[in-house]
Amino acid sequence: MKPSTEVLLKENLKLLKLSNVLRQLETFVRQAKESGTDYGEFLLGLTEMELQMRAENRLKRRVREAKFPLIKTLETFDYTAAPGLDLRLLRELETGDYIREHRNIILLGNSGTGKTHLAVALGICACQSGKNVRFYTAAGLINQLMEAQAALRLSQLERSLSRMDLLIIDEVGYVPFSEKGAQLFFQMVAASYERQSLVMTTNLEFSKWPEVFGSEQLTGALLDRLTHHCEILSMNAESYRFKESITKKKET
Ligand code: ADP
Ligand code: MG
Repeated sequence: MKPSTEVLLKENLKLLKLSNVLRQLETFVRQAKESGTDYGEFLLGLTEMELQMRAENRLKRRVREAKFPLIKTLETFDYTAAPGLDLRLLRELETGDYIREHRNIILLGNSGTGKTHLAVALGICACQSGKNVRFYTAAGLINQLMEAQAALRLSQLERSLSRMDLLIIDEVGYVPFSEKGAQLFFQMVAASYERQSLVMTTNLEFSKWPEVFGSEQLTGALLDRLTHHCEILSMNAESYRFKESITKKKET
C-alpha cells in the first residue's frame, strides 16, 4: 500500500469509527498478501473481526456496569455440592427467558451454599445475552435509596434502576431494615413488578421476612408482588465455604 493511501485509509477508518479494523489493518493486509486471500474474503474477515470485537467490548462493558462483587460463572459451579438444587429449573433459567417474561428468582438457602455465586453467574449469563444488569446487596441498595432521597434525587435513581433488565439483590435477611429503608425497598419491588426481573438471595424463609421488614402488612404486600411470577431455587445444603475450609485443614 502506498504511504499516502495508508494515511487516507486510516483517516477514513477513524471517521467511520472502525477502530478495531484501524488497529489491525497492517496485520490483516500482511496476512492477506501472504496467503493470497481474495478481496471479498479479505473484507469479510475484517468486518467479522470488527463485529466480534464490538460484541466482546459490549459484554465487557455490561459486566463492568453490573458491578458484580466478583466474577463467578455457571461453569465453575459444582452441582454435586448442591444436592437439593433443581437442575432442570436452573437449565431453564440459563436461557434467560425469565427476564423476557419479567419473572423473578429467589435463591433461598443458608450461608455458604452458593447463592451469591449463582446470582452472579445468572447475571453474567444475562449480560451475555445483551441484558442490562445491576448487582446490589440489599443493605447497599437501601443505603443508596436513602441517600438519594436525602439528596432529593430519588426519582433519578429509580429511573436508572428501571432501565435495568435484571436487578440482583443479594443478602436479603442478614440485616433488618429501618422503617424508611423497608418502605423504599418495597417501592423498588413494586416498581419492578411485571416490568423487570429481580434475582434475590436470602437465608430466610418467607415466614421470617416480617422480622427484616418490620411490618407484617408491608411484607405481605411485598411478597405478593415478588412471588407472583417467581421461581424459587432452594439451596439448603452444607456450607461450601465450611466444607472447603475443613478439607484444607485436613490437607495441611
Ligand atoms: P452464599 O452466598 O450462599 O453464602 P457463596 O455463593 O458466597 O455462598 O459461596 C461461598 C463460596 O463457596 C464462594 O467462593 C463460592 O464460589 C463457593 N461455592 C459455593 N457453592 C459452590 C458450588 N456448588 N460449586 C462451586 N463453588 C461453590
Ligand atoms: Mg452470599
